[in-house]
Amino acid sequence: MSEREGEGQPFRLGRRTFMAGVVAAALASACSGDDDGGDSGEAASNRSTSTAPADLPPLPDNLPAELFALGVASGDPLPDSVILWARIVADPQSTDGGVGAAPIPVGWEVATDESFADVVASGGAAADAALAHAVHVDATGLDADTWYWYRFTVGDRVSPVGRARTAPAADADVDRLRFAFASCQNRQDGLWTAHPHLADEDVDLVVFLGDYIYEEETEDGSAQPYVSPAPVDLATYRQRWGEYRADPALQAAHHARPWVVTWDDHEVANDYAADQPDEGGAAGDATTDEWLTRRAAAYQAYYEHMPLRLDPPDSPDYRINRSVGWGRLAQFFVLDGRQHRSNQECADTAVIASAGPVCEEAEADDRTMLGDEQELWLGDALADSEATWNVIANQTVVSATPFALDVVNLDQWDGYPAARRRLVDDLRDVANPVVITGDIHVAGVASVTDDPDDPESDPVAVELIGTSLSSAFSASLVPIVEATVSELANVHYVEASSRGYVVCELTADELRAEFRYVDTVDEIESAIETGATWVVQAGDPTPRPA
Ligand code: FE
Ligand code: CA
Repeated sequence: MSEREGEGQPFRLGRRTFMAGVVAAALASACSGDDDGGDSGEAASNRSTSTAPADLPPLPDNLPAELFALGVASGDPLPDSVILWARIVADPQSTDGGVGAAPIPVGWEVATDESFADVVASGGAAADAALAHAVHVDATGLDADTWYWYRFTVGDRVSPVGRARTAPAADADVDRLRFAFASCQNRQDGLWTAHPHLADEDVDLVVFLGDYIYEEETEDGSAQPYVSPAPVDLATYRQRWGEYRADPALQAAHHARPWVVTWDDHEVANDYAADQPDEGGAAGDATTDEWLTRRAAAYQAYYEHMPLRLDPPDSPDYRINRSVGWGRLAQFFVLDGRQHRSNQECADTAVIASAGPVCEEAEADDRTMLGDEQELWLGDALADSEATWNVIANQTVVSATPFALDVVNLDQWDGYPAARRRLVDDLRDVANPVVITGDIHVAGVASVTDDPDDPESDPVAVELIGTSLSSAFSASLVPIVEATVSELANVHYVEASSRGYVVCELTADELRAEFRYVDTVDEIESAIETGATWVVQAGDPTPRPA
């Protein structure tokens, strides 16, 4: 076990939780590999970067004054812990981050108050150049259902202060959970007008559904031209991540509460499918080896910049599907709809982009969206769940949403009919399944139906489709979508022209989803308004406008 892989050994505990911390640390080192209810499976061991101070490397000379250029973050809360993230970086566009190649000793503290008078957990971690000097601290021994403040230190430099919280105990009756979900923040397509509003929301969690970065070069008319090159390898993915993460409004949204994140395609490249790049895309000519090398680099850069309760990847294969519980009230099932999927079929029948009729090849029973292993995990985890609400954090649209005639978007679940039938089989007996979806840059409310190919059959689950934070939806497609998809029996709401995110409130009786839109992403400041509110009563999968 290397230094950065050692389990947490808090060295300066506050009075209140001293014993709890000792017990938790002992348990943590005794049960290395136990995922403790986080259910992240075999990938969960050895994640912490914490070490006892004696194990920390010496402080390198001549470090710059600013070492937290990308802010801090927290994520994947459990009832007794939360992941704390920082990357020690002065210049995200320089190959070494502006901090050299030596390991850097990092301190961390968790307190019950913003002024850190009552520090309840603390420790040290070694930030290693092999992981871009990122640290993922598993801050254990915390109280359930409690807000905390946290910060990092390197020598006399102190990070921004973040606010994090733990989840309620697994058996707790929870009155309410408020979470926002968001996706698709292409910096070129629009300004980040929505981000300060997301930072200010009164929510316990943000669930991010992917397309956190985009991999393209700067295009004509770019709202925010890139300073980083189009990423193709680890160094350039780090630069692109550094550019996105450097934005103070995005940092503020992370500083305000934990995030639970998954990826979509653009964290690697548009419309990739497992070991195949999009044939028509910039990487379309890559050999499988070249592609998997690139995918491994992209996944590593993802890990390095996100507050994940996972070990770092060590190959192109990186399991990120996992679940996060919120007492008896809610269970989140975080999916990966890109790494394991069958290739998109029927490209030769496509009418425009990836839209076309479902061809015979797409109907094959062995085609998959999630891969066998993730499908099995999801089926078992859903069957085991005792939560009132079961939230599937997903990428592409599940509900049947054909455009005119039988033309569908072949990149969505519509293009994977056998996989969708298996998903619906798993959802049918689950209490209050709710699918939350990103990717498509259109907001909507729809029903996943009992026969998922038939929009007229009975609803099984509600699907809330968030719009994008800034990514564009083609203006020429807006009237087509509004004229066709919105007429379907299972589609209750469509809004294709607005950018923003969704705020959900869950209680034992009700899900309330507020679709929050800014007026424009052409100007950096705009009011935000609730453009629509939809309500789902527990026990009835039919959504209704509030
Ligand atoms: Fe997107
Ligand atoms: Ca795509």
